[in-house]
Amino acid sequence: MALVHPPISRSDPAVLRFAPSPNGALHLGHALSALENAAMATRLGGRLLLRIEDIDRTRCRPEFERAMLADLAWLGIGFEMPPRRQSEHLDTYRQALGQLDALGLIYASFESRGELKALVAEREAATGRSWPIDPDGVPLYAGTGAAMTAAERNEGVASGRPFALRLRMAEAISRLGRPLTWTEVDETGARLRSVAADPACWGDVVLARKDVPTSYHLSVVVDDALQDVSHIVRGQDLFEATAVHRLLQELLGLAEPLYRHHRLILGADGRKLSKSEAATGLAALRAGGASPADIGRLVGIDPRTDI
Ligand code: GLU
Repeated sequence: MALVHPPISRSDPAVLRFAPSPNGALHLGHALSALENAAMATRLGGRLLLRIEDIDRTRCRPEFERAMLADLAWLGIGFEMPPRRQSEHLDTYRQALGQLDALGLIYASFESRGELKALVAEREAATGRSWPIDPDGVPLYAGTGAAMTAAERNEGVASGRPFALRLRMAEAISRLGRPLTWTEVDETGARLRSVAADPACWGDVVLARKDVPTSYHLSVVVDDALQDVSHIVRGQDLFEATAVHRLLQELLGLAEPLYRHHRLILGADGRKLSKSEAATGLAALRAGGASPADIGRLVGIDPRTDI
């Protein structure tokens, strides 16, 4: 059965969400994102949801989730409760994956990370040219899964080897048959520009694995639609990923939300903050005597005027 979903009507109330992954402690970058969402929800008179993106069972832990909820409550952001927890909705993602499979757009690949690395090196040596990388700097899929016969695939699955389920990117794009765009809005929700989406730059992205019937890309798209999210407000680091999300929305027949990719807070080394940097962790700042208003100042959001 298809995930039937009516298009979002712009007269419906705005719905925003903050969607952290409980694989470490929240830091100032998360605070900025949560506060940006809260500010826009308030301006638009909309709803503010919290989603726990915990499909990665090896990295996500309940104690991180508890700490996250405590940090957000301390910041004073009023999310609707309870949050949606992705690990509780695997069947919904499996269904979406089935829809893509029914379109002939999914295949299994059995190469390990090491094997893929070696394949890339082989191709680079053979052609004298560097193998293309995706916007995150990861080499595009260089394996042979797309060309496997059904018998080879069944044999691979029966052997018990781990596998990834990938999107046939070129076929998916040509199936759509028209240019893809998304609309970027400003902090008031006003249209800034239409952005041309280029999902091809990600290659045959992984949409699920042997032991998890989904991936970040698939579950974020399904949940944003099922939760009627109208405005997706998240960091600039996810700007390029939006191209994959727009493609999946179109293939699955889901509504198109508006997007705002906000600035990032960078560490002293000029890189994006990471969950392992204790100095910018909200819990550490709180323990050091910072108030929620101090956090707002540190990330450049004034809760008195911005929220
Ligand atoms: N769960 C993602 C993260 O923590 C954010 C997903 C999103 O906002 O689309 O980076």
